[in-house]
Amino acid sequence: MNNAYVNKVFEEFKSKNPGEKEYTQACQEILESLELMVEKNPAIEKNQLLERFLEPERLVQFRVAWLDDNNVVRVNRGWRIQYNSALGPYKGGIRLHPSVNVSILKFLALEQCLKNSLTTLPMGGAKGGSDFDPKGKSDMEIMRFCQAFMTELYRHIGPDTDVPAGDIGTGGREIGYMFGQYKRLQNEFTGVLTGKGLTFGGSLARTEATGYGLCYFTAKAMETVFGDSFKGKTVAVSGSGNVAIYATEKAQALGAKVVTLSDSNGWIYAPDGIDVAVLKQIKEVERGRIKDYAARVPGVTYVEKVAGAPTLWTTKVDIALPCATQNELNIDDAKALVANGCKVVCEGANMPCTLEAAHFLIDNGVLYGPGKAANAGGVATSGLEMSQNSMRLSWTFEEVDARLKGIMEAIYENINATQKKYGIAANDCLTGANIAGFDKIATAMIAQGVL
Ligand code: NDP
Repeated sequence: MNNAYVNKVFEEFKSKNPGEKEYTQACQEILESLELMVEKNPAIEKNQLLERFLEPERLVQFRVAWLDDNNVVRVNRGWRIQYNSALGPYKGGIRLHPSVNVSILKFLALEQCLKNSLTTLPMGGAKGGSDFDPKGKSDMEIMRFCQAFMTELYRHIGPDTDVPAGDIGTGGREIGYMFGQYKRLQNEFTGVLTGKGLTFGGSLARTEATGYGLCYFTAKAMETVFGDSFKGKTVAVSGSGNVAIYATEKAQALGAKVVTLSDSNGWIYAPDGIDVAVLKQIKEVERGRIKDYAARVPGVTYVEKVAGAPTLWTTKVDIALPCATQNELNIDDAKALVANGCKVVCEGANMPCTLEAAHFLIDNGVLYGPGKAANAGGVATSGLEMSQNSMRLSWTFEEVDARLKGIMEAIYENINATQKKYGIAANDCLTGANIAGFDKIATAMIAQGVL
């Protein structure tokens, strides 16, 4: 970083947040992008906007005690980080995964602020979660955990204050249990969570939204930058959860062939493409593992994740859509993708590329779409769910899907206009997304005074 003010902010940030690896990585990426903007807009330094933006408004940590099926008491830690409310009520998912800690949630909340801004909907940024591991838990254990989690969280949220949603480990089932407990404690049926079931205020197309939105964004960017499309392309998708399943479905519907999927134990290679019905049966109905897919579908191979084994990014593909988790694609993976002729990397997950990998991809002409833009379809559709709840109306699948497509294309167009305004290369959607996202927040923060 060359700008003295930006450098000073980053040094102070590091000394205030020691050991917070993911949070520091996200901050560095954002500050690097914002240098250009800071130089052209003296109001940012004058109002100390970077320092203010990089300090979460509120962070709540709490104990979550629950009973397992053997009547043994279990204790987890829960958090909610209400990062920035300049643009609207706090909004962001709840992650349930043993790896969850403050650094990961702060990075996710920070990213969420810029993402929500890019959607143009009135939503601030937040994130929450717990180090609870849902794997291997019975349905009743999941319910008791979700109820215990909400028993503390409910006092910090509300339809005009903070509206949580799903994320890793939190799908429709968990949102249902949390919603039920909120309703019981508050004696109020309001749209306090998004991703709800369709019979109690959920929006059609919310389940599909992040994966579909990722493909709408990627298609628009490819068309603009290369005059190309998904048709006939080979695609690597990672993960096999909500985002990965619907990215696979939409990419294949747009004429591509998805040849990989993964989970934390390994990955599959499916040379003829993915049978989405089988994938949904295994992941959504049976709650199985991705290796079950290889066992069930002939011609598919499974590569166990062990030290020294090749990663799925060594597969020869035209397009890569990382949809699992943060830092799953490192510099060696980026080099393998480029060496194999991959032209597009758009992120379904949040920060799946390390900073080094992202720089390498951009420097080598790969069209790079960061998660904060490319995966914004989930939260955008959550915003549409909030609108429907407020109006007590339900739109059709086609109506929500059409709005989602429009929002994703508008996000890309906003980034593209920002790239042109600041002279940023067309394949670098990272710098454009950070500037476009921050611009709106900065304007609102200045207008609302020193808070
Ligand atoms: P799911 O829980 O449905 O799926 C997550 C997938 O990623 C699973 O296949 C999981 O495998 C894999 N995974 C999780 N942690 C790891 C890890 N440490 N190493 C390797 N694989 C891992 O989550 P989602 O699909 O909802 O979320 C995926 C990503 O997309 C996350 O980064 C999330 O923040 C982001 N996202 C999600 C949105 C949504 O609407 N759901 C919206 C925007 C972003 P395993 O089963 O083995 O853990």
